[in-house]
Amino acid sequence: MAVISERFDDLGRDGAPARLGIMGGTFDPIHIGHLACAEQAREAFGLDGVLFVPAGNPVFKKDRAVTPAGMRLAMCRLAVASNPAFDVSAVEVERGGDTYTVDTLRQLRAHYPGNVELFFITGADAVYHILQWRESAAIADLARLIAVTRPGYALSEERRALIAERGSFSIDHLEVTALAISSSHLRERVAAGRSIRYLTMQSVFDYVREHGLYRSAGPQAAEGGA
Ligand code: NAP
Repeated sequence: MAVISERFDDLGRDGAPARLGIMGGTFDPIHIGHLACAEQAREAFGLDGVLFVPAGNPVFKKDRAVTPAGMRLAMCRLAVASNPAFDVSAVEVERGGDTYTVDTLRQLRAHYPGNVELFFITGADAVYHILQWRESAAIADLARLIAVTRPGYALSEERRALIAERGSFSIDHLEVTALAISSSHLRERVAAGRSIRYLTMQSVFDYVREHGLYRSAGPQAAEGGA
């Protein structure tokens, strides 16, 4: 059977109820806001572990250059290495083609026994568009959805009602202070020659510097990088 996660592949094999968080995102680059989200979701929803799943080819980002998937994956691995409650999965990077969340959740659902409940965690701005995602109704059957927001950001009642009505979705919200930081903010800072130290893990900071990522606002490193 394919390896989903080095740390959590056997989750639920003992038959006891378990909860796995799945952090979906582009992570270009991963930063402390993402890590705080994962930690606070773990705490709030009693998750046994959180799996970061960097999108291989994000479908809604075809209009801009995205850092090669292998590099985003490597930065995620560096960022979570010291936390045994976190891990990274390469499933979306290895699958190739456009990345659809429904495919990932089906793969995870097939891997884990029924006593493992799945929680898909991502930014509220992304969840807001879930009705446009491939097989969005199936997504709601496969996992509980957690939308993380910055302080002051709220999905309007109207939008919530529309989503619930059209797709029988139940979306939990989690406000995370550290989300004032965003990947685009980090990229802009590097392009402007400013520091991102302490906005991401030291290991990621070093990786960005060593590989010369984000120095220009234009296309990132060539496809097929590390
Ligand atoms: P995005 O539009 O880049 O992100 C929207 C907002 O959410 C940004 O502010 C982003 O901040 C934040 N965000 C993204 N991931 C987050 C996370 N895990 N935790 C906290 N905040 C997060 O979204 P995206 O990265 O393209 O997509 C997010 C997820 O939705 C991915 O797993 C993607 O595959 C999935 N998705 C699926 C479909 C589909 O199946 N058709 C379509 C769209 C998205 P940062 O920039 O700082 O991360």
